[in-house]
Amino acid sequence: MHCNRNNQNACIAVSAGISGTCEEDQAQVESNGWVPRKVNIMIWRAIQERILTMKVLSYRDILIHSSSHCPMCQEEDETVNHLYTSCPWLIPFWARLAVWFKVNPIFAFEFLDITDFYKFYSGSPKRKKLIHVIIYVATWIIRKARYSKVFEGKSTSPDQILGETQSMAYLRIKSKAKLEVSWENWTAFDFIM
Ligand SMILES: [Zn+2]
Repeated sequence: MHCNRNNQNACIAVSAGISGTCEEDQAQVESNGWVPRKVNIMIWRAIQERILTMKVLSYRDILIHSSSHCPMCQEEDETVNHLYTSCPWLIPFWARLAVWFKVNPIFAFEFLDITDFYKFYSGSPKRKKLIHVIIYVATWIIRKARYSKVFEGKSTSPDQILGETQSMAYLRIKSKAKLEVSWENWTAFDFIM
């Protein structure tokens, strides 16, 4: 069942792993207690194309820039899929993330390919859960970098995105998963789980 405006709040609660009845949407944002609630909600909204992008703003005729172009690359319309999967600004980040994970390059054609990446990661269930958190946190950091560019004119490099993703996920994992790993080993992705 898809959500409509009447049960929107219930659906957000479902997506955050609380309770509810929107099974299909819940399946798209699988519950993981290590993921911050605000991140789950943002991802759920992004899957529904309900986060503000230049494309959405152009539909609503309230653009703060002169076009619907992506503020990061200025090459294509900014949609959720563009920002997360094909924006030239961000492609190097996914390559760096794969190197950190010690896996083959990450190929994504749509946003769900990114959010579902952990499902195809071969590792223990706990490690899979960890990858889930990191990928979700990365989407939050990317969104934050996009806001910095639009509202403050600040550019963020792929290396900075990786560093912030590593930091936020590290703090989360240390507190929620009780993983005993040094920062050095974390950034080398060298630990047993
Ligand atoms: Zn772009």
